[in-house]
Amino acid sequence: TMQARAQIGVTGLAVMGRNLARNFAHHGYTVAVHNRTPARTRELIEEFNHEGAFVPAESIEEFVAALERPRRMMIMVKAGEATDAVIDEFTPLLEPGDMIIDGGNAHFADTRRREAALRERGIHFVGTGVSGGEEGALNGPSIMPGGSVDAYAVLGPMLETISAHVDGEPCCTHIGSDGAGHFVKMVHNGIEYADMQLISEAYDLLRQVTDHTPAEIAEIFRGWNEGRLDSYLIEITADILAHTDPATGQPFIDIVADAAGQKGTGRWTVQTALDLGSPVTAIAQATFARVASSRGELRAAYRAMPGGIRPPVRHDEAARFVSQVEHALYASKVIAYDQGWTMIRDAAAEYGWDIDLGAVARIWRGGCIIRAAFLDRIRAAHAANPGLVSLLAEETFAAEIADAQVPWREVVASAAHRGVPTPAFSAALAYYDTLRAERLPAALIQGQRDYFGAHTYQRTDRPGTFHTHWAQPG
Ligand code: NAP
Repeated sequence: TMQARAQIGVTGLAVMGRNLARNFAHHGYTVAVHNRTPARTRELIEEFNHEGAFVPAESIEEFVAALERPRRMMIMVKAGEATDAVIDEFTPLLEPGDMIIDGGNAHFADTRRREAALRERGIHFVGTGVSGGEEGALNGPSIMPGGSVDAYAVLGPMLETISAHVDGEPCCTHIGSDGAGHFVKMVHNGIEYADMQLISEAYDLLRQVTDHTPAEIAEIFRGWNEGRLDSYLIEITADILAHTDPATGQPFIDIVADAAGQKGTGRWTVQTALDLGSPVTAIAQATFARVASSRGELRAAYRAMPGGIRPPVRHDEAARFVSQVEHALYASKVIAYDQGWTMIRDAAAEYGWDIDLGAVARIWRGGCIIRAAFLDRIRAAHAANPGLVSLLAEETFAAEIADAQVPWREVVASAAHRGVPTPAFSAALAYYDTLRAERLPAALIQGQRDYFGAHTYQRTDRPGTFHTHWAQPG
């Protein structure tokens, strides 16, 4: 039998698992590697054995035998049933104190279920969000582990080592117990949807209202990337807009079909937000915007209708409009991120997770898709005030949003005026106005509910629950 000498094992060696295994090896760990189909294990060894210390295992028994105790194994298989199948296969071979890290994109409710079941057997189950795709997995992802404090004490240093680093700090922290890591990864992806949609709306406005070319907009975005919007998504957007399709010589953006896909995590964020009562309107609109873009038959039917307004392009005010859009994009982005943090806070209260909201910003500064300079300011805002209810309660964000007021409204108004769809800009502004309103028409909704359903209402002038005996019309 094989000598147990691997500090970590990875099972599931598709792109993500293979690259994480290499990342561990690059950092000096001995890594046991296993895949259901052994050909992938052999391929990894053939191509990358020279990069570090790998222990290839063709069977699950060999794999488990190769691991130092307490055993630490990472599962990187297709999320869902495959994860349960792998857990069921391996657990009979494990012992109390062993640790399973699930780095797949699991739904946090599945992670809670798996963690509880394995805890019964004394096995630590650490549902872990991993962001940054293939490249991140190899060179340093943002890592969001859940699970127990005890498991993190052992696994944390290893995960922090392979994570991205910003200003010398690892983009990895213990998020909270059981499913907290996968929950926070889910919200990360929801925020990513909102950010991508907001950037895309900014592009569309510059294209349609002021008639800038994609190449010109690429330059505008490059300029923005030097300022407070500095982020990975703005940077890649500039590259995409500057790209020419080699086959046609057209701007690349004009030859791409305008129907956006959406996979699990954005949808889960919106579904879960409703369960928690978290008003993540910008994330929801971003998700629905993708869904609507893919409804070809509905788009054809609406486009066939007569009417619609197209006021002339405003070349004269182009420079001013560009600056207004920057304000609108920034303000909407702050709102979208604030909504994400609200949802994390709501889940922490619901599930009893002790989440450091500043640390979440800290570990998203590198390795992940939404990495951005302003996350450091979110980190600092939470560090300065651990009870911070909203980013807008922090002085500098509040001042920026106050500054953005007029341009933000003008951008949303000119979008409506010209018929350019801005669901996420509009949702963010409406959210801001909703939360700032002295009185909301929710009072009327309570009246309606009491009228037709005797749902009762509260009064502003005295405590208690009231019902009015409405005179029914004859
Ligand atoms: P994937 O395409 O999601 O999954 C393929 C892997 O799953 C293969 O190793 C496959 O083994 C294994 N597998 C599938 N069903 C199995 C079963 N019933 N029993 C055992 N193994 C099974 O691979 P991936 O793209 O590398 O992603 C891995 C995980 O990371 C997923 O959960 C994914 O959601 C998550 N993730 C992906 C990204 C990304 O950018 N791709 C980013 C973050 C997280 P065989 O080779 O034998 O078929």
